[in-house]
Amino acid sequence: MLRKSVERNVLAQFLVNELQVARFRDYCPNGLQVEGRREIKRIISGVTACQALLDEAVRLQADAILVHHGYFWRGEDMRVVGQKFQRLKTLITNDISLFAYHLPLDSHPIMGNNAQLAKLFGFEVTGRFGEDDLGWLGTWTAMATASAADVAAHISNRLGREAILIGDIDQAVTTIAWCSGAAQNMLNAAIEAGASIFVSGEISEPTVHLARESKVAYLACGHHASERYGVQALGQFIAEQFGIEHQFVDIANPV
Ligand SMILES: [Zn+2]
Repeated sequence: MLRKSVERNVLAQFLVNELQVARFRDYCPNGLQVEGRREIKRIISGVTACQALLDEAVRLQADAILVHHGYFWRGEDMRVVGQKFQRLKTLITNDISLFAYHLPLDSHPIMGNNAQLAKLFGFEVTGRFGEDDLGWLGTWTAMATASAADVAAHISNRLGREAILIGDIDQAVTTIAWCSGAAQNMLNAAIEAGASIFVSGEISEPTVHLARESKVAYLACGHHASERYGVQALGQFIAEQFGIEHQFVDIANPV
């Protein structure tokens, strides 16, 4: 059977539109970050374009890699040395393209990380909040009366990772707010939006005090764990659109 393929720049343009890339003021370029071979038949997706993911993509003979965390972050050392050199060398030597989508992939209403978390957790989405509407609001209708501890146990179970809950564990939860990744700084915005608990990936020392003093619980469920789903959904969507192969590779990360 003849395998189908998509031309690299056709895929890049398709994703600019699909993910509404121009809408976001981001900390990195979104789209094709490193140019590889023209014809793409096999795409590997992963959370972060770390060396282990690149090595696996080489082993699997991928034509392109699709990630949430790519390269060239604002403020980083611009020199091509050390870790960055090794990663770029691997991509260029093997003629593999790197496509990266950060905020557009958090935000997308169907394939985004937060939409996918709602699906995974069984939450009913009721609204959005915060800058660029990156925060999501919803309810957990499966539980008539849920406590913060119930929500924490449910999310830990779905993600296969123990989440850190800060605040009163018996506190009744009505509105749940969430934002994948390192969105702990959105706790204030979640409080203003009327959330009873805010769920994100990471946690910082000041987050603990704000959660305790505001009486809005905070749940840190893992940066990596909360961002595994958007890129998988996007990879699957691309595979279906163009009839190409897609495989998600999970490089485990405890944070
Ligand atoms: Zn992230």
